[in-house]
Amino acid sequence: MIYLDNAATTKPSRRAIRIAKESLEEYWMNPSAIYNGATEVSNKIKKSRQIIADLINFKPSQITFTSGATEGNNMVLNQNWDYIITDRIEHDSVYNTALSMSDKVRFIDVDDTGKIDLNQLKDTIKECKGNILVSIMSVNNEIGTIQPYKEIAEICNSISGVTYHMDATQSIGKIPIPYSFADIITASAHKFHGVKGIGFLASKKNLDSFIKGGHQESGIRAGTENVMGIISMAEALEESHTGILNKLEYVRNLNNHLCNRLTHEISDIRINSDKNNPYILNVSFKNVNAESLLHLLSLKGIYVSSGSACNSRDTKVSRILQQINVPEDYIYGSIRFSFSTENTIEEMDIVADTINDSIKMLKKLKGDKND
Ligand code: PMP
Repeated sequence: MIYLDNAATTKPSRRAIRIAKESLEEYWMNPSAIYNGATEVSNKIKKSRQIIADLINFKPSQITFTSGATEGNNMVLNQNWDYIITDRIEHDSVYNTALSMSDKVRFIDVDDTGKIDLNQLKDTIKECKGNILVSIMSVNNEIGTIQPYKEIAEICNSISGVTYHMDATQSIGKIPIPYSFADIITASAHKFHGVKGIGFLASKKNLDSFIKGGHQESGIRAGTENVMGIISMAEALEESHTGILNKLEYVRNLNNHLCNRLTHEISDIRINSDKNNPYILNVSFKNVNAESLLHLLSLKGIYVSSGSACNSRDTKVSRILQQINVPEDYIYGSIRFSFSTENTIEEMDIVADTINDSIKMLKKLKGDKND
């Protein structure tokens, strides 16, 4: 198997699995109880909160554990904002939530690389009065664009009443960004080799309760903690930060190798990705049906995604590729390769060879049909 769908999810690391198992066996008591065994569990949670806070330069008291980034993003957008300023290439968990609040939402345009228009952001903030949320992701999940987070933070900090939320799901543990530039960040553990069903939100601002119930997570997100997920996530995040720059260069080499081979060997190809982020390579093949290509690759044990895996069962054309103006004859032939350090150069060669063969086969079949 060659797994190139790491933006959809990553394989949990051995360490993440070991810690998860260990916590199921040893730390199963309710952390809210006050006897010794339970205190041990709440101490483990405390330590995990500290590890995560240190890695992203927030305070432990600013971390709230969630079930993942979808919940975190909903929690952030559903606060009592007068205005929400975002863009149309955000993940569905931000975009659809924003659409449901249409009266107070303003959308900022992106250019053909997916970067937001900073002047428009500045002007829009000035037009909106009151308590304003600016929600702009660090890295786009389909095309990998890294947003100009430093400039966004400067704009947000220069005007009072503005809160900068960064959906950091695709960058955290992969791209070393100064996360504390943002007021709020959200993330999911399964994108950095942790387990599924756990994530976190870090916020410098006080948030209203999102899930009401007991006192857990300072009352913001009540419910007995996902102890296994929390402890395992902290270890996975720590592990992902070890040698993060070397990992980035390793993945850049993989991306460049595959990209060079595809662009040299296949005509009518369009690269939709930002080359600054090696973790995601989005490519369109002219007049090729991405779904058919994806199935041919899948038959050979190569797993990629057409557009975003979160909506790859949805046959609608990608909102993100539309926003960056991918031409009509290319947009339906778009494939996303997303890498991890588990991939190898040899795999890239197999993928390039298989794509070459598959595209030839698809073109032949199409030609035969037209005869
Ligand atoms: N934001 C981004 C940028 C994502 O890529 C994803 C997952 N595809 C999410 C949010 C949602 O994450 P989860 O499904 O883990 O809640």
